Amino acid sequence: MVGGGFAARGKKVQAKFGRGAWLRQNVPVRFETSRALDAIERRLTVDPLAVGGVIDLVEAARSIDLDGGRPAALLRLGLFVDALSRRLGDGNTGLYAIAERGAMSDTDFTSNERMVLRRWSDDGLIEMLPPGARVNARVREVAHLTGVPVITRNPLPGHPGPVYLTTSAPGGFELTLAPATGSTPRPHPVLQRYWRCPASDCPIFGRQPAPGAGQAPPALPSGAPICPRHGERLIDSGPRPPAMALAVRINGTVRTRFTVTAARPVVVGRAPDDPGGITIGSWLDDESSRRVSRNHLRFELRDGMLLVTDVSTNGAAVLARTGPTAAPREVELGRGEPKAMGEWDEVEIYPEITIGRADRPAADAPTGSAPNSVMADAPTMALRLPPPPR
Ligand SMILES: [Zn+2]
Repeated sequence: MVGGGFAARGKKVQAKFGRGAWLRQNVPVRFETSRALDAIERRLTVDPLAVGGVIDLVEAARSIDLDGGRPAALLRLGLFVDALSRRLGDGNTGLYAIAERGAMSDTDFTSNERMVLRRWSDDGLIEMLPPGARVNARVREVAHLTGVPVITRNPLPGHPGPVYLTTSAPGGFELTLAPATGSTPRPHPVLQRYWRCPASDCPIFGRQPAPGAGQAPPALPSGAPICPRHGERLIDSGPRPPAMALAVRINGTVRTRFTVTAARPVVVGRAPDDPGGITIGSWLDDESSRRVSRNHLRFELRDGMLLVTDVSTNGAAVLARTGPTAAPREVELGRGEPKAMGEWDEVEIYPEITIGRADRPAADAPTGSAPNSVMADAPTMALRLPPPPR
């Protein structure tokens, strides 16, 4: 699909303009490129609650085998955003991208791409490490502390958490989840505090996140919390309630995501009484509307554990899974009785209407269409052709 689209568009341009005529295309290509980069930009964040994967930005940008184009292309990051969207069935999932400052002077990128990288870094949309820092180690650290899967081209032996590997698929590639090899680590105590960086212009730890948003995990090179960008010791700026991102999937597509914190339970239903509840009525058809209660499920976090309570008159079941590829075991929920949910469990309130952790899709979740593709406007030529003259 992605790759097929590229090839098709590339051919069309070739036919229309002939070989070597790309200079005439320079302006529209640059326009389309910046539109696609803008679309990618909207999906970049270092908020662990908003992302579905953490990635080495330059490794992704240098994945020349994906399209046979330039040695480094920032647009390739969009291929990974789209693959992640397809994998999660979530057209709004974010990507946590990490790079090292050398990338901003790497002449394999165009001058425009280097400028975009600087902007993403200055705006705190990506994590920019000091020169020479080991990006791969930080990628693993973020994944380990947050539980977010790593997206990588190369297996990570010894990494205990879940990892997405790229496998070729018709028309491009898809992400295949290799489940965790270790047990789920207990949340690190450093994540129970908010942190502030003493550097005056720190885009990552400069100010406390808005309510409901998460914060990037500090670097812990020797146990003490350090700003990954500035290397400065971070300052404790108060308690952070534990939080978890959940997603409502209807027929395999994520319709909405929400965050449960220890301070605030969340009710999900057709039209919950609580104004802070999650309303799913508008996505239901006549039949499912009758079977989904106005207040159906209540989610809460207690001692780091996600609990679900059936508060409906229609019932619900937990689809318990030991891992992404395990067959679900259906467990009825007793009305009014809180039940602890495992990492890969979902609650089903009606066939094909499930709620589970936003970053833990079952392996049989449909992949296919790229909801809200960031590459829809991307010009093939920007990936396949040499960079325009600087
Ligand atoms: Zn800082």
